[in-house]
Amino acid sequence: MKYVEVLKDLISIDTSVPPGLNYDKAIDYLEPLFKELGFVTHRVIIPAEHAEGREGRINLICHRREKGKPRLILYGHIDVVPAEGWEAFEPRVANGKVYGRGAADMKGSIVALLLAMESLKGKHLDFDVSVMLTTDEEFSQASQLHYLAQYLEPIPGAHFLNLDSSFGFVSITGLGALHVDIKVKGKSVHSGLSHLGENAVEKASLLMKALLDLKHRIEERESSVPTHPDTGLKRMVARLNINMVKGGIKVNIIPDECLISVDRRLIPEETIEDARKELLDTMASVQGVTWELERVFSIPTVPPNNDPIVDRLADIIRDTIGEGNKFGEMGSGDFLHIVASWGGNVFGMGVIRPECSIHGKEEFVYLRDIEDAAKILARFLLA
Ligand SMILES: [Zn+2]
Repeated sequence: MKYVEVLKDLISIDTSVPPGLNYDKAIDYLEPLFKELGFVTHRVIIPAEHAEGREGRINLICHRREKGKPRLILYGHIDVVPAEGWEAFEPRVANGKVYGRGAADMKGSIVALLLAMESLKGKHLDFDVSVMLTTDEEFSQASQLHYLAQYLEPIPGAHFLNLDSSFGFVSITGLGALHVDIKVKGKSVHSGLSHLGENAVEKASLLMKALLDLKHRIEERESSVPTHPDTGLKRMVARLNINMVKGGIKVNIIPDECLISVDRRLIPEETIEDARKELLDTMASVQGVTWELERVFSIPTVPPNNDPIVDRLADIIRDTIGEGNKFGEMGSGDFLHIVASWGGNVFGMGVIRPECSIHGKEEFVYLRDIEDAAKILARFLLA
């Protein structure tokens, strides 16, 4: 397989979301490749009610079933984040890298899988394999994943290998997330008569002071799960960041509203319930400020995957590229939590490195990483 050409072809199909372009073209391109490699393929059109009203969400499920073998479902997504200000959809090869939107996140991983499967053509796999190629990951796909589940049975106890992951190690868990928008209320008056009003921005600063005190306590919480040294950390660490403040309309008007957005990330040892209570208790302890929760979004934590299959993959990575380990990722994703809620077992390996500029300008993937990932996957699937 001329895999560099395949990757360039895939990058050229602009699958940006929003709005979710050309999904049909990407699947039209990929389906025959999987068929050629011995997969039984199935196009699934996600009903609009499972895609927040959006049409044209075509997913591809590919099976190479082996009765009696452990169930393994490989996960990927065909969509990419939009790009501006560079030739993101005109892929370029230079210095052992392919540049283009989606090169590392994650069309390069799909190509690594195809390459691995090519080397396994006609051989019996050591797993009962399905591949799920999904849409809208970069937007919101939780409901689409729930719809897809019926095409992936049996799921409880199945292993899910998330190819939308880092290169060089096995990802065994991620952070939970709790996003909270807090609306602080005041009373609007002329600035000169501020004694008659209530300044929502100033009140918000009192809440923020309390939240920053909490932040310092939270960031001392270290998980027992190690994280990749490239992060500058040894172990996963809990986070609280105040990432948005919006308030006030003019310099001479006392503001009657201020919105604070808090991004709390949880280590596997924490729970959403406790984190939420801690946050609310902290804010309730501040006297004289009126506030309400505007929006709450959460992704529960998932304990690290300690299944022996993870060690098996880590061993193959080490044997192939000279290093390999198991780490928790300092990021959060719906997929991890959804699969855990299905009773599946998630772990991850892909072709993303910190320098690959995913979601940024000049995104690239190392060709060598695609080749190594393909070798690792092939050995893993046959082991
Ligand atoms: Zn991705």
